[in-house]
Amino acid sequence: MSVPTLADSFRHLACLAEVRGDPGARTLRAVQTHLDRLTPAALSALIEAARAPSKPDLPDMDRPAADRVREAVTLGAEPLIRAARARVPLLHRLLLERNAITHDEAATLARDHGVVTLGDLQAFLAEPRSSRLPTVMHARLKSAASALAAELRPVPLGRACEVLGACLDATVRLAGVDAGMIAGDARRFEPLVDHLVLAARSPHPSATVDAVTASRPVDDVLHRTARRALVSVRGTEVDIRVAAPDEFGTMVFAATGAPGHVAHMRRRRSGLDLCAREEDVYARAGLPWIPPELRNDSGEIEAALAGRLPRLVERTDIRGDLHMHSTYSDGQDTVEAMLRAAAALGYEYAAITDHSENAAASRTVMPDQLARQRDEIERLRPLFPSMEILHGLEVDILQDGRLDCADAILERLDIVLASLHDHSGQGPEALTRRCLRAIHHPLVNVITHPSNQIVGRRPGYSMDFEAIYAAAAGTGTALEIDGAPSHLDLDGAHARAAVAAGVTVTIDSDCHRASGLERQMTFGIGTARRGWVEARNVLNTRPMHEVKAFIRAKRVPVG
Ligand SMILES: [Zn+2]
Ligand SMILES: [Zn+2]
Repeated sequence: MSVPTLADSFRHLACLAEVRGDPGARTLRAVQTHLDRLTPAALSALIEAARAPSKPDLPDMDRPAADRVREAVTLGAEPLIRAARARVPLLHRLLLERNAITHDEAATLARDHGVVTLGDLQAFLAEPRSSRLPTVMHARLKSAASALAAELRPVPLGRACEVLGACLDATVRLAGVDAGMIAGDARRFEPLVDHLVLAARSPHPSATVDAVTASRPVDDVLHRTARRALVSVRGTEVDIRVAAPDEFGTMVFAATGAPGHVAHMRRRRSGLDLCAREEDVYARAGLPWIPPELRNDSGEIEAALAGRLPRLVERTDIRGDLHMHSTYSDGQDTVEAMLRAAAALGYEYAAITDHSENAAASRTVMPDQLARQRDEIERLRPLFPSMEILHGLEVDILQDGRLDCADAILERLDIVLASLHDHSGQGPEALTRRCLRAIHHPLVNVITHPSNQIVGRRPGYSMDFEAIYAAAAGTGTALEIDGAPSHLDLDGAHARAAVAAGVTVTIDSDCHRASGLERQMTFGIGTARRGWVEARNVLNTRPMHEVKAFIRAKRVPVG
C-alpha cells in the first residue's frame, strides 16, 4: 500500500465519520494527519508493525489510533470505507452513489452546514450562505436535489405515524425529557410524509440526544449533534430534535413547517426569536397560534391577521362514525366487536356499512346476508342502550352510474353510502357522470372517499369537482372525508373547496378492524382540518335526530 493511499483512506473514513457526527472522527483525522507526515520508510515500518500478530505499540500513536490503523491494514481500507458509506444518512448515500459529491464535500455539508436530509439540502440551497460554496459544487447539488426530490418515495402518513409513535413512546420515557411530540409533515397530517420528525424538550439536550440514540427503537445513528439525531428506525429515517425549555417553541415551530409557512413567518418578523412556547412565536409576530394542519402558506397567515381563522373541527365534536366494515364483508371483526369498540369511544351512534355484492373488495355482502345482518343488528341494539346503531351499506357505483343494489333493499337501510371503487380507468367525464348520477339518487346519503385516491400509489380521479360539490350541496348528499390511511379523501384542498361550496361532509374511519376506529377517525379529523373544515360543516358532529333528518330530507322529495 502506498503512502497517499493509506492516508487518503483515513481522510475518507474521517469525512464519513464527520457526516455522522461520530466522535471517533477526531481519531481518524489525527491518523490521517500523522500518516501524511510520515516518510515512505516510516510508513512501511508502521504497516509492518501494524500487521504483527503480537500487536505491539505503534510509534507516536495512542491506543484508539493504533487500533484503527491495525484494522485498516489487516482488513483493507476499502471494505471499511464501504461499510462507513452504508451508515451515513440516505441523502449522503445517494449523493455519493451518483458522484454528486466527494467524501470531503459530504463532510462539509453535514459538519459545517447541518445538511443531512433532502429537506435540509433544499432549504440550504435557497439560503444566501450556500452561495459561498464553490459554484460548480452548488450547481451539482442543485441538480442532484431536484433529481432526488422526484425520485425519493415519501412515507404514507399511517406508516410514518407508526414509526414516529414508537419513537415518541421511547423518547418521552427518558429521564430529563419533559415533553415530546410528533412534528414535521406528520403533525400537519400530510398524506405523504417526506420527513419524519420528532421534537423533545429537555433541560440537557445533549445528554438527551445520547439517551435517544441508545433507546430501543433506534437501529442505527446516521448523524448526531448536541441537539439532533438522525436515526434509522425499522428502515426509515427519523429526525429527532431536542431543545432546551426556553427554545422549545421555536424549534417545534420550525420543525413542523411547512417551509412556505415558516418562510412567510420569518419575513414578518425578519427572523425568529427563541420562544419557550409555539404560541409565543406567533404572538411575537402579532398573530394568534395557527393550527399545524393549516400551515401551508395558503392564506392562513392572512386569515390569522384578519382574525378570521376557522374554528376547526375537533375530536370532541364527533358524535358518531358513519362508515365501518364487519366480517359480513372484508372487515376483520364481527358487527358486535365493531359496535363495542364504537361504544367504548363514547359515540352516540355508529353505522355498519359493508361492501355491496359486486364491489372489488375481498369479501362482499349478498342481499340475503344483508337481511341476516339486519336481524343481528336488531338483536344487538339492546346491548348498546346509549348508542344508536344504523344499518347501512357501502354500495358500489357501477360502470354506468347505477347502484350495485336494488332500491327496494336500499330503502330498508338506515343509511346508504356510495363509492366509485371500480373502473378507475375511465375518463374524467365518465367518472364525473357516474358520481353525479349517484348523488342524484334519493337513497344515497354519502359519497365515500370521493376522489378514490390511494395514498402513495394512485392520485385521486380528476373529475369535475365543482359540479360534484354543487350537486352534493343541492341534493343534500354528504361527501366523505375518509380517515383510512390509504384514502385520506377528500383531502385537505378538496375538502376546503367542498365546504366553501356549501357541502356537508362526514368524517369517518372506514375501519375494517375494531382496534383501528379511533386511529382512523384521528386521521380523518386531521385531513378535514387541513381543509379548514369546521364542526358546523360536518354531519356526524350533529345529534342523531339531525343526521336522521338529513337522510330523510333527501328520501322525501320536496313538492
Ligand atoms: Zn370504500
Ligand atoms: Zn369502506
